[in-house]
Amino acid sequence: VSSVLLVEDDETIGRALRSALTSQRYVVIWVRTGSAALNHEQEVDLVLLDLGLPDLDGVEVCRQLRVVHRGAVIVILTARDGEIDVILGLEAGADDYLVKPVRLSELLARLRAHLRRASTPLPQAPVRTVGALRIDLDARRAWVHERELDLRAKEFDLLARLAADPGQLVTRETLMAEVWDENWYGSTKTLDVHIAALRRKLADIPADADPSLPSPTVDTSAPVVVTLRGRGYRLQASSSTRG
Ligand code: CA
Repeated sequence: VSSVLLVEDDETIGRALRSALTSQRYVVIWVRTGSAALNHEQEVDLVLLDLGLPDLDGVEVCRQLRVVHRGAVIVILTARDGEIDVILGLEAGADDYLVKPVRLSELLARLRAHLRRASTPLPQAPVRTVGALRIDLDARRAWVHERELDLRAKEFDLLARLAADPGQLVTRETLMAEVWDENWYGSTKTLDVHIAALRRKLADIPADADPSLPSPTVDTSAPVVVTLRGRGYRLQASSSTRG
């Protein structure tokens, strides 16, 4: 049984979402304000967060919920014209978004996909390496030369997928289908934001992570995510970009 923290101040929408979720056997905790959401400290599997809240800024609530519910999948709900909110929300730690009015069938399909992904380990070798990057697929942890990357669930999935074909093009469609279980048009923003976050985190690893090593014979720097415009991405060991 999966638990959902539903944060929605609109009575009509909240009631509809709650009954749809309850009918699918989710345990729903419905709160109507940002502060009530932040006060809910019990662990949940999923957070469904309306960004337009009466008391607090929804993006800030998202940021704080990400810290409290580290392992949960966070899906934000935004108004039709809320494109900026979507990007800010994803950057604040949301895994996905839905635009209101939300189609219940789409919502339920998406939540199922997220939860399935969160609970199913990737069916490949348990450790994957690309240059100085090492990924433990079972533990869902990644290191660049002994420095652990602090990755969110989707960032990890994305990195693991790119690392499955190091040095090769992985198309946007493949990433959307395999990491998000989606292939529709609107969601690709999610991909862009997650790629950007992943790049930032990889770039934050200092190249000389271990000065005791006899560089340059050992590459201690993080691999890079290369954009192939309009097509997809390629993860490659940093040494190969230096020529
Ligand atoms: Ca609202």
